[in-house]
Amino acid sequence: MNPNPKVAMLFFAALSLSGSAEAAAPRPNVVIVFADDLGYGDLGCQGHPSIATPRLDRMAQEGQRWTEFYVAAPVCTPSRAGLLTGRLPVRSGMCSLRDHVLYPDSLGGLPASEITLAEALRAAGYATACVGKWHLGHRPEFLPTRQGFDAYFGLPYSNDMPNRRAPAAQPGGKDIIERIGVPLLRGEETIEQPVEQSTLTQRYTAEAVRFIEEHRDGPFFLYLAHTMPHVPLARSERFVDASRRGLYGDVVEEIDDSVGQVLDALARLGLDRRTLVVFTSDNGPWLVKGQNGGSAGLLRGGKGSTWEGGMREPAIFWWPGTIRPGVVREMGSTLDLLPTLAALCGGDVPADRAIDGLDLSPALMGTGRSPRDTMFFYRGDQLCAVRHGPFKMYYHTQPNYQNRKGVAHDPPLLFHLDHDPSERHNVAAKHPVVIAELKAIVEAHKRTVEPVPSQLELRP
Ligand code: MG
Repeated sequence: MNPNPKVAMLFFAALSLSGSAEAAAPRPNVVIVFADDLGYGDLGCQGHPSIATPRLDRMAQEGQRWTEFYVAAPVCTPSRAGLLTGRLPVRSGMCSLRDHVLYPDSLGGLPASEITLAEALRAAGYATACVGKWHLGHRPEFLPTRQGFDAYFGLPYSNDMPNRRAPAAQPGGKDIIERIGVPLLRGEETIEQPVEQSTLTQRYTAEAVRFIEEHRDGPFFLYLAHTMPHVPLARSERFVDASRRGLYGDVVEEIDDSVGQVLDALARLGLDRRTLVVFTSDNGPWLVKGQNGGSAGLLRGGKGSTWEGGMREPAIFWWPGTIRPGVVREMGSTLDLLPTLAALCGGDVPADRAIDGLDLSPALMGTGRSPRDTMFFYRGDQLCAVRHGPFKMYYHTQPNYQNRKGVAHDPPLLFHLDHDPSERHNVAAKHPVVIAELKAIVEAHKRTVEPVPSQLELRP
């Protein structure tokens, strides 16, 4: 990009006049690497003292590392729905306070009426593949192959979900719990059950590299959603005791190696300057898993909680020669990926529905700031908190995934995230004007949310 910011601004003004970024710049290939349950503090570049992630650290140095990047929900299913649709999961029904996520006996999934990132990019001429964990519905009509992906290889739900519940034959009888083992799918066929988990990260990586090689003439979109480091943790032979952080560290270091293999493949094929790679995670660390759970660093809480540790994630954007390297201390979200990629890749953002994502491309190029100044924090369909600027206000808090009730707060709690990133000091009493402003933002937001049936509560 032009180093002169004024000229760059004019350049971008011209681009927006011409309709979109595609008019001037070649459209990038896109790779999204999505870890599972990786915490804010679990990478070397995020300050972890005993997990070594040299490839992600270098990717961050060559690209942008965002320090205030949020996922759409603090658990797997709704978080993934948010990433792929650019919409808060409450709008698609992909959330539930009762069920949290989809289970092997769930009947629902991401409705066909939702427009996924894969559908938007495929319509713009991209080859698309999903490799890894799906968790947006495992019945055939909900699989990645029906949601815009040309190819799929991976697990349809979490790796700790071997059981399927069949309802009791008679009223009052006991449900039948079958141990079925986690299936591995290619396309819509189960090819291995139970899946051998120790080699999954390497097999996903090989699949990803093969897809990149086959589509080197581009453009392509690869969604590489790792099963790890979600428990049960597993790593291949080469990573046994590789890390000083024990099993969890081994698993994260193998993901780092996987990222390295993907970046190396792009370089080998001469695609590194034509490919945008994004790395982030679906939700915070599963703290109740003890040493098998990760760390949110200095952030409070973890998976299942709308405290910062549950929803603020490591985020790295890499596109050498185009993205301006640096640390971005502005707000962004996985919700923003759809509009951002639509802008960069020449896709359409659906105009017939509410979209919660915003186009981050000016911030990525270094020509402007992130347009995101507000983030809503839902647990299931319950709006627990809102952040606007540095202030985050809570109506409701909960310690973790297991605690279903949580605590209601009236008056709400207020934290200044710049002064107090660990959310320890409630400053509500000092800021009545801020509280009133945030309440007005919440009320305006609530008016845009139309209730839809929960897909997660459809169970036998
Ligand atoms: Mg997860």
